[in-house]
Amino acid sequence: MSTNVFAQADTYVAARCIMSPGKLLETARSGIVRLTGCVSVNGAEAGSKDVLFDRSTGKIINGQHLFYGNGVTADEVIDLGGRIVCPGFIDVQFNGAFNFDFSDPSRGPDAYSAQLRDLNTKIIKTGVTSYLPTVTSQKKEVYHKTLPFLGPSGWQRHPSEGAESLGAHCEGPFISPGKNGIHNLDVLRTGLDGYPDLEDCYGSSNLRGAKGRPPRVKMVTAAPEVGSILKAIPEIADRGIVVAVGHSEATYDEAAAALEAGSTMVTHLFNQMAPLHHRTPGIFGLLGRTNREYRPYFGIIADGIHLHPSVVKLAYTSHPDGLILVTDAMSLLGLEDGTYDWTNGDRIIKRGSKLILEGTDRIAGGTATLLDCVNNFLNWSGVSIAEAVKTVTETPAKMLGLEKTKGVLSPGADADFVVLDYKRKADGELALEIYQVWKFGELVYQQDNAAS
Ligand SMILES: [Zn+2]
Repeated sequence: MSTNVFAQADTYVAARCIMSPGKLLETARSGIVRLTGCVSVNGAEAGSKDVLFDRSTGKIINGQHLFYGNGVTADEVIDLGGRIVCPGFIDVQFNGAFNFDFSDPSRGPDAYSAQLRDLNTKIIKTGVTSYLPTVTSQKKEVYHKTLPFLGPSGWQRHPSEGAESLGAHCEGPFISPGKNGIHNLDVLRTGLDGYPDLEDCYGSSNLRGAKGRPPRVKMVTAAPEVGSILKAIPEIADRGIVVAVGHSEATYDEAAAALEAGSTMVTHLFNQMAPLHHRTPGIFGLLGRTNREYRPYFGIIADGIHLHPSVVKLAYTSHPDGLILVTDAMSLLGLEDGTYDWTNGDRIIKRGSKLILEGTDRIAGGTATLLDCVNNFLNWSGVSIAEAVKTVTETPAKMLGLEKTKGVLSPGADADFVVLDYKRKADGELALEIYQVWKFGELVYQQDNAAS
């Protein structure tokens, strides 16, 4: 893989311009780029529709208005050779990768910041153009040290910075000790005082927007049956922070009460919650509510380890518009097999894509990429490519309330794209592969051996 993918990408764009702007237009360049010869995927819809964007703003524009309204033409027309173009992927449950853990500030602020920048330029090559850096259950000092680095970062609109944080996801520590998974029991909190406990834990400034910007924390995963968390949900939601039910022993009624209070999401459905029982359906029962009742979005780890394929399909069939694929990936993504130190003095064994907490049989997260999860879901569920892509684009954007700027190919949205090749493998399975990644209207990655 080239070490200078950005330079390579620029060269490629120039080479692929099939409609030269000519001398006249060079003096009055529009900055408009047209992606053509592509199947564009927007929501669950796919069609042979060009995508236009403005390099100067890094935003998608309305092509009809452009050409028929004021006669401006595109500077560059890029033929994608029949490939798929879709919005950049969004991962809302992502603990770290490339030997960097968002929950570990132990190497100091400078190293933390440098590793975060490194991760952003690497993870974007997997198609993830924005994400929620996820911090697991920790002592409050850890939140106070890490969250200042993890707030929304896209306001600077620098494509060369790589993937963008949409705000942090605090997963715990207000969770059930009976459903802690690999979260350290010693750091869990009961939240008896409700919202003030959250302020104490995460830091009040991290839960508050400033200078017209949203709070650093975008999502909190908590168990509504713990302490006074149920009472705190409206106060969290009022700040534009998504409240997800997770790591929870909530009954169906307790989970339904959380939705009434303002919760809109379920964190990694099925994992770390009571299994479905036909008379006591628990959290999963929320997907079976009537059309008159609110049904939440839900995260699904389709890595082939956390869930059986049939269970993933069952959840999707129950509530297709709610399913959001997440990786739950952690710092060992991209590293060799072996035993590694983790937070709180624990160690994790990596064997292939399986991660186990040392001394237990507990799954400790995954190392699958979001595209791996999309490909698994595509093959397990039999849905269309557009429907599979929607689970990592439009659906998470809607869950976050960001569907005007992220996860769609609509005018006004950020020009974050993934261009995909589409193959059928020898075993008959379908496989999407990353061909290009664009961020804010700039090509930031291209597959090395891509044919032109
Ligand atoms: Zn978890």
